[in-house]
Amino acid sequence: MIQLATAMGRLGTESAFEVLARANALAASGKDIINLGIGQPDFKTPDHIVDAAAKALKDGHHGYTPANGIPELRQAVVADIAKYRGVEVDPGNVMIVPGGKVTMFFAISMFGEPGAEIIYPNPGFPIYESVIKYSGATPVPMPLHEETSYAFDADEVLSLITAKTRLLILNTPSNPTGGVVPRSEMDKLAAGLENHPHVCILSDEIYARMLYDGRDHVSLLEYDHLRPRTILLDGWSKTYAMTGWRMGYGVWPDALIEHAIRLSINCHSCVSASNQFAGIAALEGPQDAVDHMVTAFDERRKVIVKEINSIPGFSCPEPGGAFYAFPNITGTGISSMDMQNKLLNDAGVALISGTSFGHLGEGYIRFSYANSTENIIAAVRRIKACLADG
Ligand code: PMP
Repeated sequence: MIQLATAMGRLGTESAFEVLARANALAASGKDIINLGIGQPDFKTPDHIVDAAAKALKDGHHGYTPANGIPELRQAVVADIAKYRGVEVDPGNVMIVPGGKVTMFFAISMFGEPGAEIIYPNPGFPIYESVIKYSGATPVPMPLHEETSYAFDADEVLSLITAKTRLLILNTPSNPTGGVVPRSEMDKLAAGLENHPHVCILSDEIYARMLYDGRDHVSLLEYDHLRPRTILLDGWSKTYAMTGWRMGYGVWPDALIEHAIRLSINCHSCVSASNQFAGIAALEGPQDAVDHMVTAFDERRKVIVKEINSIPGFSCPEPGGAFYAFPNITGTGISSMDMQNKLLNDAGVALISGTSFGHLGEGYIRFSYANSTENIIAAVRRIKACLADG
């Protein structure tokens, strides 16, 4: 008999990939599917980025690189952080990883073990809870409420901290809610964290460039007193439409960077050399493709919120960032998972049940608006027809 490690039984998953596989299978069988499930930009990686990777391969960049990434790329990350976050970091604290997820996995692995507590957003990106459980730590959900447009309440977060808390995970702008934490609330949390010097923070800022209505990104790196215990997670996947390239980075405090590099050496050695050159081109090259993409998302955001709110039983607050809308569907009387399955099978619309993002996601469903306006309108038309049919 094969015997797996017990921890494998505690590992969760990201249902967006399962729904994607089911949607693709239905499409392959001839069914017309509109996919508002998976969270990836429907744009191509800009040409100058692709060209930089091709050139790097032609130039012979075929070998291993330093585990934390090539110096030129880490320097480009430092310049990008100075430009968009207005803070200075040292290239020695930057580690390039194969996708944003890796910084998350390493940070949680570094702190998680039986007896430790890790606070994470719920509803939130499902991998947080999954890896916390896998590590043996106790997952402590930080509830996000529709009433506050899914921004956390700093007092509520601080009240969850105990002597056992090792890591606090934050995510703004947020997946799956599109919520954005306002500066006042972040200031309050940062001030409160002064009383809890044993707590490290993983700040997942992968949607930092996708903000609407003139909102500012508030980076946790702006709080000097928290710098020695803040890990920043960001990457290229969303900003540059590069989900399949697997390119991300972390900024790790002095006390943790060597541990992070050691995990990299044990795990993936380094990120594909040619992709790292693409990463430089993305950060240092023209940003008009990013602006164009964000403008398109903003237009679709306005359309999708209006459209969703016209579905009987759905109500949707306006998301401030990322490319997700997270309506309350309790008015339909249908559970989130039943709604996901019904709309995929009967309406041909792929969405993700709110419960895929934690138990507090019951009563909600996630729409990704990384799809064309025409498809968004057609999807809502199908949903209305399907629900009217019963
Ligand atoms: N954090 C959040 C909040 C995300 O939504 C995602 C991707 N959906 C990631 C991290 C991981 O990004 P990557 O694909 O670069 O691993």
